[in-house]
Amino acid sequence: RIAYVNGQYVPHALAQVHIEDRGYQFADGVYEVCLVVDGKYWDLDGHLARLKRSLDELQIAMPMSENALRVVMDNVRKRNHLPSAMIYIQVTRGVAPRNHIFPVGLKPSLVMTVKPFDLDQSDAKAAKGIRVITQPDIRWGRTDIKSTGLLANAMAKHAASEVGAGEALLIRDGHITECSSSNAWIIDKDGVLITHPKSHEILSGITRETAKACAQELQLNVVERPFTLDEVKAASEMFLTSASSVVMPVIGVDSFKIGDGTPGPITKRLRESYKARARAL
Ligand code: PLP
Repeated sequence: RIAYVNGQYVPHALAQVHIEDRGYQFADGVYEVCLVVDGKYWDLDGHLARLKRSLDELQIAMPMSENALRVVMDNVRKRNHLPSAMIYIQVTRGVAPRNHIFPVGLKPSLVMTVKPFDLDQSDAKAAKGIRVITQPDIRWGRTDIKSTGLLANAMAKHAASEVGAGEALLIRDGHITECSSSNAWIIDKDGVLITHPKSHEILSGITRETAKACAQELQLNVVERPFTLDEVKAASEMFLTSASSVVMPVIGVDSFKIGDGTPGPITKRLRESYKARARAL
């Protein structure tokens, strides 16, 4: 496999950044995960806009123009002979002697890696649905920034995996925010889809936006508001959205069953509609 590191295409195993890169010492950086389906980028404008926004919020410069980024993405993908791929892009503030105060105008570091992706790769999991556990949302107050500082997310997801669950549902101030690496949705008894509104408390998922468009096409009502664990327990369906898992049905939360404990019909339709949209690019 070939990776891109600061202007060079290098074998993955040999790809390196400096030990005083601020990404390493302070998690001072951001990332994106983009999908390519059969050679076509899926929601790339949204991912690049979010990358720019995350960088702006942290006063880190874009490492190169958006067009140049697209060229590098294409090169990495082609050098790895992957028509369908998941591209990981990471931009950190750059290399400087360790000091909380950062030098202004530092040259950012840009790293890209790629791995195979298939829209159907999560089908088996989605057919069964996943279980999730609740965890307190102890992340910082700007989770709208797609920061590489993912320790709280990683600890929460690890706790889930230790009990055989697929995700951690995060709770802050009595309401559900999102999951450790996906956005959370419930469907109430009236068939209304509910998800946390865009705010500093959640990462605004690109898949969340597309799922919203799919729901509208299916003439489903979407309401963006915070919801509680009690509402989760009373929901008829639940699902998660993320680039890698697309639309993932949830069949249980902690020891509670969602609906009849199998993936719900509306969730299944939404997943199919989302995949059809990606294939019709
Ligand atoms: N929320 C968090 C915390 C995430 O890390 C992710 C994706 O990695 C998402 C939501 C979903 O975002 P997207 O749909 O853009 O993949």
